[in-house]
Amino acid sequence: MARELLTARLLRKECISEVAQCYHFLFSVESLETFPYLPGQFVSAVAPDENGKQQTRAYSIASAPSGNQFELCVNRVENGFFSNHLADLPDLPVGSAIQIHGPHGHFVLQEPVTDSIFVATGTGVAPMRGYSQWLFPADGPDRSNGKEIWLVYGTRYETDMYYHDEFVALAQRVPNFHYLPTLSRAQPQWTGLRGYVQDHVAKIVEDRAARLGQPLPVPPVDPATPPAELRFDIYTYICGLNFMVSSVRERLDGFGWHKKQIVFERYD
Ligand SMILES: Cc1cc2nc3c(=O)[nH]c(=O)nc-3n(C[C@H](O)[C@H](O)[C@H](O)COP(=O)(O)OP(=O)(O)OC[C@H]3O[C@@H](n4cnc5c(N)ncnc54)[C@H](O)[C@@H]3O)c2cc1C
Repeated sequence: MARELLTARLLRKECISEVAQCYHFLFSVESLETFPYLPGQFVSAVAPDENGKQQTRAYSIASAPSGNQFELCVNRVENGFFSNHLADLPDLPVGSAIQIHGPHGHFVLQEPVTDSIFVATGTGVAPMRGYSQWLFPADGPDRSNGKEIWLVYGTRYETDMYYHDEFVALAQRVPNFHYLPTLSRAQPQWTGLRGYVQDHVAKIVEDRAARLGQPLPVPPVDPATPPAELRFDIYTYICGLNFMVSSVRERLDGFGWHKKQIVFERYD
């Protein structure tokens, strides 16, 4: 079945890392008054390549729903068709349009909100920005119900850490939002966390279990429990390249976590 194509007009475009060639985009969907989606979903962007063949690529929405607008965070992939189409200013100046369909995807927050660990590398932080904006709106009531929310964000260098200042400001404003940026190839002057996201996730899980007096590994869930009746007091949401997603899942498996407690989106 053909999907309905929507025209998304580019309202703003900003290079948020020169070194990593990462761009932040603000689009509006012209034909709609509101563009409804759940934080964490993605849009499919469509454009013809130089041979006239339609190419489609998924991009996570990097914002919480707001009118007919949505934001994207895209980094240029060497020799990649779509990321370069979006990143190249002469091809896509402010005021021009792209075709999209969506929203799509199941990488969304479980209801009701529980303690949650958001884990991202690179542009995998896009849906986490959407989650955070939705949970802790700057100009509306908090939706976190006081649950503890951790964002573990890993990159190699400080220069490929996107929206860092926003997350630092959010953590200062909101006591139950904990921002843990970590660098795998930090310069000597970096005073924050070092190493890989999975190690920091493991520490969060261990410290929390100790604080709550919960056993680790967690006792197994009765396999007869119907999926709709599964309830957990903590979930982890992971987004990025497959290698990282697998490493975090493996670590949580080791704690006896149920597979439904681990929600993930792979970019490759
Ligand atoms: C659900 C979902 C959400 C996504 N959200 C985002 C997002 O928010 N921001 C974002 O920047 N990307 C995101 N991606 C990745 C995006 O869809 C494209 O794969 C990426 O932009 C590369 O497309 P391209 O046309 O430039 O490269 P292509 O022409 O498809 O590929 C060129 C070369 O780059 C390699 N390559 C492809 N993708 C990647 C990648 N992600 N990293 C490194 N090398 C790659 C390919 O193996 C190939 O060798 C998402 C992917 C999925 C599945």
